[in-house]
Amino acid sequence: MVAKKAIPRQATKARTAHVRPPARSVAGLDPAAAAVKARPRPRRARLSAAEVAAIFRRFQEIEPSPTGELEHTNPFTLLVAVVLSAQATDAGVNKATRGLFALAQSPQEMLALGEERVRDAIKTIGLYRNKAKNVILLSRQLIELHAGEVPADRDQLETLAGVGRKTANVVMNVAFGAPTMAVDTHVFRVANRIGLSSGKTPLAVEKDLVKAIPPEFGVPAHHWLILHGRYLCKARKPECYRCPIREFCRFEPKTEAPGKTTGRSSPKG
Ligand code: SF4
Repeated sequence: MVAKKAIPRQATKARTAHVRPPARSVAGLDPAAAAVKARPRPRRARLSAAEVAAIFRRFQEIEPSPTGELEHTNPFTLLVAVVLSAQATDAGVNKATRGLFALAQSPQEMLALGEERVRDAIKTIGLYRNKAKNVILLSRQLIELHAGEVPADRDQLETLAGVGRKTANVVMNVAFGAPTMAVDTHVFRVANRIGLSSGKTPLAVEKDLVKAIPPEFGVPAHHWLILHGRYLCKARKPECYRCPIREFCRFEPKTEAPGKTTGRSSPKG
């Protein structure tokens, strides 16, 4: 039988020093505990302005003229498509709006079509009953308050039925070329991973991005980040091994190409 080795009191203290924060100053600690306390914690350095510019330059090289994927023919159909896209995929919305926009492409035509036929045209989309109500109501608001035109102003857009900050940002950006940043699930994730923001809410991320992105990239940046999140920096498994901005991105650990080993040997049995 192997006798248990007594653990010296000093060693026990050192081993648990990181668990129980000592009340004394570092200078007053024994050497082992002081070493634990003084060890620098890993910190993700913030992206510099030069790195942020380099990221967007790279996006620009790859896709100089990015566009959104929601099909539309004018600011009104864009507004309707974005309202319908809440909790739905762009592909699903496009499938429904192809039929809807064949019947109505203006607030007047939409109002004339009526809620029931709008509902029928978009019934493949989630929350379609409520969305049909909003499409009719916002068409009426546009006719009565904005002479049938979609306003280019955020506050005015947000008074329309079914239009929140994100929708207003998309419409301002895509229809009117404003350097707005609509933060959807992709932009929120990508901005936090890359290190462009550490915001905990879409509004905080939006503000960080608008502040950080150089003005010359302000309009297309929204599309670049969405496309990057949708096709490469995916939620479950980002494809870091083929990412064009990998060298700048703060996300760790980065993923490796399927089948590639990390170089670490596996434990032998
Ligand atoms: S390196 Fe990976 S985590 Fe970072 S942006 Fe690229 S795909 Fe996303």
